[in-house]
Amino acid sequence: MTIAILALQGAFAEHARMLDRLDTTHFEIRRPSDLERPFDGLILPGGESTVMGKLLRELALYKPLKEMIQSGLPVFGTCAGLILLAKEVDGGAVHFGTMDITAKRNAYGRQLGSFHTEDNFSGIGTVPMTFIRAPYIAAAREDTKVLARADGRIVAARQKNQLVTAFHPELDEDLRIHRYFLGMAAGT
Ligand code: GLN
Repeated sequence: MTIAILALQGAFAEHARMLDRLDTTHFEIRRPSDLERPFDGLILPGGESTVMGKLLRELALYKPLKEMIQSGLPVFGTCAGLILLAKEVDGGAVHFGTMDITAKRNAYGRQLGSFHTEDNFSGIGTVPMTFIRAPYIAAAREDTKVLARADGRIVAARQKNQLVTAFHPELDEDLRIHRYFLGMAAGT
C-alpha cells in the first residue's frame, strides 16, 4: 500500500508523520512526473485552497488528479483539501468539484478561527478535532454520508472514494481517521 500526499503547500508533512506512525509507504506529489509512481490513495492536506488551486493548475496537476479522483482513486481531503473536492464553495472558487457537498469557507469567523473540540465520528467513536480557519459542510447531497458533526455542523463526510474532514486529524495524535482512510485505500 502506497499513499501519495499533495505537497504543493500546507500541512503535508504532518500527514506524512501520521503515515510513518502507521508504517505506511508514502511519497509527495509536486509535479506531473510524480504521478508515474503507482499509489493506492491520495491525501489533499490543509493549507490555503486558493493557493493550492492555483498551483495545481500552473503545475499541470489539476487535470490528471481530477481524472484519477473521478475514476475512483481513494482521496482524503482535510480542511483546504475538503474545499478542493467540494462541488460548491460558499466564499471561494470550485477546484476539483468531484464531491457532492457545499463547503462554507472560513466559516467560523475571526475569533473562532482556530479551536479544538471532541465529538463522535461515525464508526470510530469520540475523536479530537482541531479546526484552523476551517470550512464546514453546509450541505451534503446525493449518496454523501455524514460522518461527524461538531456543534450541529457537518465536519466530516464520505462519498464513495472521497473522505473529507473540516478539521485536522494530522495535528492530533489519534491515528484512527487515517487508519479508516487506509481501509478505503485497501478497498475495504
Ligand atoms: N481557510 C483555508 C482555505 O480556505 C482552509 C484552512 C485550512 O486548511 N486550515 O483554504
